[in-house]
Amino acid sequence: MLSKVLIANRGEIAIRIMRACKELGIPTVAVYSDADKSALFTRYADEKVHIGPAPAAQSYLVKDKIIQAALDTGADGIHPGYGFMAEDFEFATMCAKNNIEFIGPPVPSMELMCSKIDSKKSMIKAGVSVVAGVTEAISDHEKALNIAHEIGFPLMLKASAGGGGIGIVRVDRAEDIEEELAKVRRLAKSSFGDDSVFIEKYIHEPHHVEFQVIGDKHGNLIHVLDRECSVQRRNQKLIEETPSQAISEEIREEMGKQAVLAAKTAGYWNAGTCEFMYKDGQFYFLEMNTRLQVEHPITEMITGVDLAREQLRVASGLELEYEQSDIVCKGHAIECRINAEDPANGFMPSPGKIVRYAEPSGPGVRVDSGVYQGLDFPPYYDSMAAKLIVWAEDRPRAIERMKRALWEYQIGGMKTNIPFHEVVMNDPVFKAGIYNTSYIENNDIMAKVTKYMEEKRAQGGNKKTAAAMAAVQTVIAASQG
Ligand code: ADP
Ligand code: ADP
Ligand code: MG
Repeated sequence: MLSKVLIANRGEIAIRIMRACKELGIPTVAVYSDADKSALFTRYADEKVHIGPAPAAQSYLVKDKIIQAALDTGADGIHPGYGFMAEDFEFATMCAKNNIEFIGPPVPSMELMCSKIDSKKSMIKAGVSVVAGVTEAISDHEKALNIAHEIGFPLMLKASAGGGGIGIVRVDRAEDIEEELAKVRRLAKSSFGDDSVFIEKYIHEPHHVEFQVIGDKHGNLIHVLDRECSVQRRNQKLIEETPSQAISEEIREEMGKQAVLAAKTAGYWNAGTCEFMYKDGQFYFLEMNTRLQVEHPITEMITGVDLAREQLRVASGLELEYEQSDIVCKGHAIECRINAEDPANGFMPSPGKIVRYAEPSGPGVRVDSGVYQGLDFPPYYDSMAAKLIVWAEDRPRAIERMKRALWEYQIGGMKTNIPFHEVVMNDPVFKAGIYNTSYIENNDIMAKVTKYMEEKRAQGGNKKTAAAMAAVQTVIAASQG
């Protein structure tokens, strides 16, 4: 087993990984910037190393500093979390050169999957189904026009190196191609340092369904079922659930097989996710995220597999604890991403000091959080503050449980998107489980959220009954202790 693990990340995911380490008896090292001096994750770690000023480019993204921190503390493994350097094969290579285990897939798998063009090519060759389009970088708009006329409008321009929903643009008309192509290429260059852009057919209102996979270094590789992630805003996920309501058992089985095929084709080990679009009985491979995913807890809730623990075991050279036949779905799980964003103001980031904080608990509730009462939520990073995850025997009960947990969740001093989640959990379309990636726009969800917040304000705001406050007092006391 690894003897000490450095977590090259922050916030809730750093704590999630440290929790798995603690259960395995592995000491942990946190790295932190000026903005995270009093963050929860730095307090949780056994050791901490300061790595620089608040901006990530001067701290969490400085590879040399992170490697040095591992060498100085004697950490023999680095877990990258998600975001930051999680999908950076250069960083993984540097780890290897310094005899540090990168807790993730092998470098060639990362290299293949970080290019949407190369991975799509390789998937086509292996027989994985993909969206129609071209698998080469298009820089010339004449050529783009020819391709556009072949595959038809609307179409998608996609940055090959893109991620986080950035660098994906829908084009509806031939006359817009030249300008849009130039724009996406510039954005791709500035965001990812690579201006390769490719074209594929636009799938109208698809579902985003993904499969978790995990493999070891001994050739065992399985999938750990699906997740439905179609509640998205600007191609970014907000709510995830499992199992997906959109696909049949036959499709589920076929997608699972293709996810395993995709991962095996890439020579994969450790945890990863194959993302697909699903529409009318057809599914298409989108990309593989070569890391632990934000929404991994819902998979853990329905299967019992501790993915972070498996990651650490696999990185230590052990065999997977599971075979495919061990993976069975029990019940239903939902995750709401709790972001420091103001839903009444276009989801603008709204960091600030958390003056009141109490987490929900009780049966079937899990909170993966990086915050506490008194914390000044930093404006420099992702706006996700916590994840609220619930499990129940079936979907209707999971929704009711989520409503109860959202009601218990008390965050004061900083605006959050909790009202958005409350509206969705009460929405008949969501309840019926028949939503796709255009759900928010097609159902006027944002207008409903604004109305809901106005009504709440008119009724005297967030005041809860005395009994409910008493129930959360213990949590408040604990977080102050
Ligand atoms: P998922 O949510 O499915 O795990 P995302 O693509 O939404 O995957 O990425 C998860 C997190 O990682 C995001 O919230 C963001 O902080 C970060 N991230 C991923 N890719 C990028 C990117 N290219 N640029 C900036 N941040 C990114
Ligand atoms: P990222 O790396 O930013 O996560 P993805 O390729 O995974 O990019 O796509 C993110 C989201 O964008 C998908 O979940 C889907 O909603 C939408 N999308 C991507 N490609 C297409 C397409 N060809 N047609 C329609 N929607 C798409
Ligand atoms: Mg994606």
